[in-house]
Amino acid sequence: MSSIKTVNPTTNKVEKEFEEMNDQQIQSIIAEADKAFQTWRKTSFKKRAELLHKVATIMREKKDLLGKLCSIEMGKLLSEGIGEVQLSADIFDYYADNGEKLLADQPLETPTGKAFLSYQPIGVLLSVQPWNFPFYQITRSAAPNIMAGNTVVLKHASNVPQAAEIMEKIFAEAGAPKGVYTNLFVPGSKVSQILADPRIKGASLTGSEAAGSSFASMAGKHIKKSTLELGGSDPFIVMPDADIDKAVKTAAEGRLWNAGQVCVSPKRIIVVGDAANEFIAKATALFERVVVGDPLDPATQLAPLSSEKAVADVIKQVEKAVSQGADLILGGKRIDRPGAFMEPTILTNVKKYMDAFSEEIFGPVLVIYAVKDVDEAVELANGTDFGLGGTVFGTNVDKAVEVARRIDTGMVYINHVTGIAPELPFGGTKNSGYGREQSPAGIYEFVNAKLIRVTTPDAAY
Ligand code: NAP
Repeated sequence: MSSIKTVNPTTNKVEKEFEEMNDQQIQSIIAEADKAFQTWRKTSFKKRAELLHKVATIMREKKDLLGKLCSIEMGKLLSEGIGEVQLSADIFDYYADNGEKLLADQPLETPTGKAFLSYQPIGVLLSVQPWNFPFYQITRSAAPNIMAGNTVVLKHASNVPQAAEIMEKIFAEAGAPKGVYTNLFVPGSKVSQILADPRIKGASLTGSEAAGSSFASMAGKHIKKSTLELGGSDPFIVMPDADIDKAVKTAAEGRLWNAGQVCVSPKRIIVVGDAANEFIAKATALFERVVVGDPLDPATQLAPLSSEKAVADVIKQVEKAVSQGADLILGGKRIDRPGAFMEPTILTNVKKYMDAFSEEIFGPVLVIYAVKDVDEAVELANGTDFGLGGTVFGTNVDKAVEVARRIDTGMVYINHVTGIAPELPFGGTKNSGYGREQSPAGIYEFVNAKLIRVTTPDAAY
């Protein structure tokens, strides 16, 4: 039986199954991508930009269909799915509009002669992506790299094959030459073998720490450039001068986004000063009112998690936290209905020695901490191995920025949770990975920044 299939988490029914590709099919896809690279690298920026703009246009035209696919394959609210598709289209447009300028020769100051960096594509890239943002994740790696002249083979998560399939079709419809962007229907266990192929010149993975570690070891073994976008346990620091109602609303809604299955979800709320009890009471009241239901119903605020296994894993983490001494303020259980539904959950009194302190909880679980001052908040915020994102919430923005500078993560947002935009970088530090996607930085990850230095043969250098 194939591992590559859509199991609708709202019903737990298998909707569509895809055959896993065999070694011969994988070989021929890599060969085609390698062949396409030889032409694509010489294709003008103008033509590459035309392709990306066309992809963006088609995505916008199909936004309802693509959004619905997210709901069916991994339980995303339809409005969130449509929003994700629009953001993805914006990212394609951003690189189409800015790629040529970003990759223009960069002059270097040198006392002798002339020197500059020439940015050149490196070849076929392997992109391994997770299910939680079926279109946005693909886009973050495909848009800059295809604009730069590389070709991409995608291995999407096994539970979102229809998203993978339709994206390949969109590229074809937009006029992408065969091999520029291709989907591989393979399980995670096949990735090492593909990564080892000498025609694969670079590789990016977004996913768990375990997958990232094995992926990066393999890339290292074969001396290939890699980037990793891994998990996070983002702190959300509520400053003593914060408006508590606004802080609660921002944190709670942020935590429920995508049913809590967001790498940069505010997973640890750290309330500084004496407002913790008020925060807990108001967050509990807000979570109690959450409307749970079908992701296609516009009234729904919390849809199912991505799978039965996802619910079981999160519930196990909550139960373990409670068995280790944490206080369960709300929720913590499956919801008694078909589908992968879990109650909105609030935990307090989580201590450093508990697993819930250091693990990422990938579900609708708000963990609230109370600390006496900002120093303690920063220590707590930096106290896990993760370093992805974070928020500082407070009225005095200068003070909030000072705190933001002390947090060891790749991104910190003041007075909001993750503000994703094509022109802003996305990525982490510590065990949350390395490298950046989006923004100017995202286009330099997989290009050869080649030095060209020019002098006359008789110059002293
Ligand atoms: P996962 O199990 O690591 O899967 C992610 C992708 O890696 C899938 O395509 C998966 O394929 C593949 N994979 C699994 N094991 C692999 C291995 N040993 N070698 C190579 N590839 C492997 O991650 P997940 O649990 O589905 O996704 C959620 C995680 O992603 C969370 O930790 C979340 O925080 C993180 N994430 C991070 C970011 C970011 O930008 N930092 C963004 C989104 C999500 P199969 O599906 O076939 O197993």
